[in-house]
Amino acid sequence: MAARTGKQFLSGLKKPRDIWVNGERVNDVTSHPALAGGAATMAAVFDLQHEAAAECLMPDPETSEPINVSHMIPRSREDLARRHLGLQRVAEFTVGLMGRTPDYMNVTYAGFAGRADEWAVNGNDRGAANLVAFQKTLRRNDLSLTHTIVHPTIDKSQGDVPHAGNEVALHKVADTDHGIVVRGARILATLAPFADEIAVYPAIPLPEGADAYALSFSIPMDTPGLKFLCRDSCSTQASLFDRPLSSRFDEQDAFVILDDVEVPRDRLFINANREAYNTVMTTGWYPNIMQQTMIRAQTKLEFAYGLGVRMAEIINDVSPATSQLLGEIWTYAEFTRAAIHSAETDAFVYGHGVCFPNGGPLAALRAALPTWFPRVAEILTLIGSHNLLATPSQSQLADPKLRPLIDKYLAGAKGISSEERARVFRLAWDFVGSALAGRNELYERFYLASGARNYQIANVLAPKERGRRLVDQILGVATKDAPKADATRRVVNLPSRGIEK
Ligand SMILES: Cc1cc2nc3c(=O)[nH]c(=O)nc-3n(C[C@H](O)[C@H](O)[C@H](O)COP(=O)(O)OP(=O)(O)OC[C@H]3O[C@@H](n4cnc5c(N)ncnc54)[C@H](O)[C@@H]3O)c2cc1C
Repeated sequence: MAARTGKQFLSGLKKPRDIWVNGERVNDVTSHPALAGGAATMAAVFDLQHEAAAECLMPDPETSEPINVSHMIPRSREDLARRHLGLQRVAEFTVGLMGRTPDYMNVTYAGFAGRADEWAVNGNDRGAANLVAFQKTLRRNDLSLTHTIVHPTIDKSQGDVPHAGNEVALHKVADTDHGIVVRGARILATLAPFADEIAVYPAIPLPEGADAYALSFSIPMDTPGLKFLCRDSCSTQASLFDRPLSSRFDEQDAFVILDDVEVPRDRLFINANREAYNTVMTTGWYPNIMQQTMIRAQTKLEFAYGLGVRMAEIINDVSPATSQLLGEIWTYAEFTRAAIHSAETDAFVYGHGVCFPNGGPLAALRAALPTWFPRVAEILTLIGSHNLLATPSQSQLADPKLRPLIDKYLAGAKGISSEERARVFRLAWDFVGSALAGRNELYERFYLASGARNYQIANVLAPKERGRRLVDQILGVATKDAPKADATRRVVNLPSRGIEK
C-alpha cells in the first residue's frame, strides 16, 4: 500500500485497542465524542497528501509507489528543500496546532534509517537491520506512530533515568521464543488514539547497570498488554464557529502502561544494549527532526501574528502599545524563519551520505521557543482583553430577537460586522484561553524537554572557540589553532534531552 487516504487511515483505527478516556474503554476512537474531532482532522491530513501531491508525495526509492515526502532520507540540501515544502503544507493545515501529525515520526525514522550505521554499534547489527526494514514498512504502509521516550516521574530526587531495580520505568523482563517481554510505563504518548503503532526509542543516556532499560522497538497499538490512559479531552463538540480549534485539533496525550508486552524479535531495534541506546540520539536526530518541529513552530507563530493583527483591526486598536506587542510576535516568527533558513542553507552530510540541517540555529530555537510561545499567548491576551469573552455564540447570532441588538452593540470598528468580530475573538480565545490552549502551552514548554534543560544543553555544546579567541585577542594573548568560521557554527553531538540534573 502507498500513501493512504483519510478513509483508509480511519478504517485502520477500528481495530480493538486498550484506550481509556475517563472511566471508559473506548470501542471506536473515530466516533467517540472525546476523540472524533481529532480523528477527522487526522483523516484530513492523510487526504491532504493526495490533494497537494506535488508538495507532499514522492516515489518510494525502491518500489516507485507514492509515499509521503516526510519519509525521505535526505541526501542533499535540495532534498531538504523538497521536504520543507511537504512539512510546511501539513503544518499550515493545522496552523501548527498538532505537533505530532505523522510527519513527526516519519522524519524521525527516516533519519534513524539513514544513520543505521549509528544503530549498528556494540553488536547491534540485527537491531539496525530491523530498524531499516521497519522504516520501509512505515513508509510503504503509511502508518501513524505515537511514541514515548521519557521515563515516568515518581521521585524527582532520583534523577531522570532509571537505575537497576526501578520497577516503574519500562524494562526487559524475559526472552521468549519470539522476542522479549517488557514491563513498565512511559510518557507521554501524544497521538495515541490516532496511531497504528507505538514506537519506543532512547532519550537521556542510561547509567552503568541499567541495560534492562535500554530498549527500542515499535509494535502495533493492539498488542496485548498495552494500555493507554488518555488525559481529559480538550475536544469540544461545539460548532466550528464557536470553537474553531478545540472542535478539530486535540491530538490527545496518553500515559502508557506496558503490562508484560511481548515485542517480536523483528521489531526490536535495541535489545538491552546500553551502548547502542546511548549512541543513537547523539548526532543527527535533533537537526533532522527539528526541521519538522521548527517549520511547525514558524507556522504557528505566523498564525499568531496574523490573529493579533486581525484582532487589532477589528477594534481599530492603533495604539503604540499594541503595535509594539504585535511587533514582538513578528520578531519571534522572523527569528524562527531565519534560523530554519540558516540551518537548511548550512546543511551538511553527517555521515553515511545523509544530509541534515546544521544543528546550531535549531538548538538555539529549541531553547528559546518554550518561553516565546507562552509570551505570544500573553500578548494575544493583552491585546484581546475582555473582548475575548464578549463573543456571542453562533446560536445567539442566529436568534432573530438577539441579532439586531448584537449587531448594534457588538459590531467591530469601521463597519466590521458583529459576526466577524465574534468569529475572530472566539478564535483568539480558543488559541489562548480554552482547555486546548492550556494543553498547547504545556506542549510548547515541554515537548522537546524544558527550556531550562535546553539552554543548558546549548551551553554545553555551543562552539566556544571564536568567543575565546576574541577575548584572547583583546587581552593580547596569542591563540593557537584558530578555527575556520564555518566550523564554529556547527553544533553536533547533542544528546536528545541531554543533561541530567
Ligand atoms: C503536552 C505534552 C506532550 C508530550 N508528548 C510526548 C510524546 O509524544 N512523546 C514523549 O516521549 N514525550 C512527550 N512529552 C513528554 C516530554 O518529553 C517531557 O514532558 C519533557 O521531556 C519534559 O520532561 P520533564 O518533566 O522531565 O521536564 P524537566 O526538563 O525536568 O523540567 C521540569 C521542570 O524543571 C525545570 N528544570 C529542569 N532542569 C532544570 C535545571 N537544571 N535548573 C532549573 N530548573 C530546571 C524546568 O524548567 C521545568 O520547570 C510530552 C509532554 C507534554 C507536556
